[in-house]
Amino acid sequence: MTSVNACKQCAPLGACVAFKGIEGALPMLHGSQGCATYIRRYLISHFREPVDVASSSLGEEATIFGGGRNFSVGIDNIISQYRPKVIAIASTCLSETIGEDVQRLIGEYRAAHRGEVGLPEMLFASTPSYQGTHCEGFHEAVCAAVKALANGRGGKAAGRHINLFCSFVSPEDIRHLKEILADWGVSAVVFPDYSDTLDGGSWGAYRRIPEGGTPLEAIRSCACASASVELGYILNAGGRSGRVRRNVAVQSAGEYLQGAFGVACRRTGLPVGVGETDKLLRLLAQLSGKPVPEKYRRQRSRLLDLYADGHKYVSMKKAVIYGEEDLAVALVAFAVEVGIKPVLCATGGESGKLQETLRETLGETYPEEMAVGQGMTFEQMEATLQAAGVRPDLLIGNSKGYYIARRLDVPIVRVGFPIHDRIGAQRCRLLGYEGTTILFEQAVNALLDDRQRKSPVGYKYM
Ligand code: SF4
Repeated sequence: MTSVNACKQCAPLGACVAFKGIEGALPMLHGSQGCATYIRRYLISHFREPVDVASSSLGEEATIFGGGRNFSVGIDNIISQYRPKVIAIASTCLSETIGEDVQRLIGEYRAAHRGEVGLPEMLFASTPSYQGTHCEGFHEAVCAAVKALANGRGGKAAGRHINLFCSFVSPEDIRHLKEILADWGVSAVVFPDYSDTLDGGSWGAYRRIPEGGTPLEAIRSCACASASVELGYILNAGGRSGRVRRNVAVQSAGEYLQGAFGVACRRTGLPVGVGETDKLLRLLAQLSGKPVPEKYRRQRSRLLDLYADGHKYVSMKKAVIYGEEDLAVALVAFAVEVGIKPVLCATGGESGKLQETLRETLGETYPEEMAVGQGMTFEQMEATLQAAGVRPDLLIGNSKGYYIARRLDVPIVRVGFPIHDRIGAQRCRLLGYEGTTILFEQAVNALLDDRQRKSPVGYKYM
């Protein structure tokens, strides 16, 4: 069955974002040229940064006889042109469909070049897009990098640090998470860290691989952390193929480290809203043995004050919330917390876990009248609203919902990925009390702007 305008992106796209969070890494797709072109284009329009993604450029001949030669020529070219520390490879629909064994190709390349100085690390994530979303590709890539590199050696002292696997969030949110950890005095490996590589400064001369990313030594030391914290309840815990791909169990990075090295894995949701941010800060307090810093108590207090100020504008407003599964859970939790009424929670993900996760997260505040849709397209979202006879007041999600907002003539608060019709997506802060402050102000002001714009009188005192 084909789907038009799906509420998700392609799996290797998510893998490329995660790979940009490894210091000195160049992402490479084993597949056709078009996949890399589409992904580069899509990422550049969101992050407004140069994003190089190499490709093995499989054509008709390689599709029939195998892509081994294209693969090794591609690796040669990358090494000679980019000199990366890591070549991070993701598969595509094509290479998965013809059954390419990329791990074998990596092994053959290493064997053919044994003894050569300066060979980069190579790692591989299996990311068939017909089996998962960009989010599953992202988490698959994070786990693949940890599996390939984490070995207990590296720059951090054993058991003295935690791993923070920060999910598909904006560069600004990664910076904010690092700020929280630094304010707390918690030693941590934050991975993947694309806060500089996908949101750098102005360059005097073009750099093939931007500075930044989680250092390799830090990723290696993930195996000797005292605990891992994963942001998100669902991560890659589902997908069309369930939890097995190519006869290998699909795991998150935290699950892998727990199984292979005994590093305790703790999960909490994306910290959006007071309730979900409280959960993360409580977990950090527990893991560090240190109380919540005063700075965050004040931020929380200011946010509660803001909720009180803006409550009358958002109360009982009907919202459609959509995007990646863990983001959708966090946004619904926020909406319910501030008195917005979510009428539809939609995602392109197909983990089969969205509804139960929403129920577990929201408890008795779960809005029974809310429709929940997985594997959805934007057309299906609109049809669901029409069938229910519901006209929302607000959309909260990525810029792909714009056509629905335009047809319904309602405002849209842009969060998540992609945001292609505004600048500043890379600096969109959503997490923590401060991110929630910005989100709440955006929602209130979007509703006020809509009321003002549609008013025949033109009130200026709202
Ligand atoms: S063919 Fe598959 S991997 Fe390539 S761009 Fe399309 S969905 Fe992504």
